[in-house]
Amino acid sequence: MRTIKKSVALLLCALLLMTLLFSSVCIVRAANHVCSGECCLICVLLARVERALHGMVALLPVLAALFALRLLGRLCLSQPAFRRVAHGTLVGWKIRLDD
Ligand SMILES: [Zn+2]
Repeated sequence: MRTIKKSVALLLCALLLMTLLFSSVCIVRAANHVCSGECCLICVLLARVERALHGMVALLPVLAALFALRLLGRLCLSQPAFRRVAHGTLVGWKIRLDD
């Protein structure tokens, strides 16, 4: 299960990097094109690429928050006091539920 998650994460990272690379190459190559008018396909492509990049930029705060939460969770689990509470049992804590 862990290797599947790692594989999916690597695949998503590769797709993100490919999208960024493709978008950058498209913008650089088509920046100084000779525009043919309203129905210019290059302008349409540039608009779509720009929209895709804006979408990715909008995702960055969400990804940063998720990364911070995961890091905070790992830090909490590494503390001995939290680990004792998180992985203890009712019998280990001598708590009776039959009262
Ligand atoms: Zn154009």
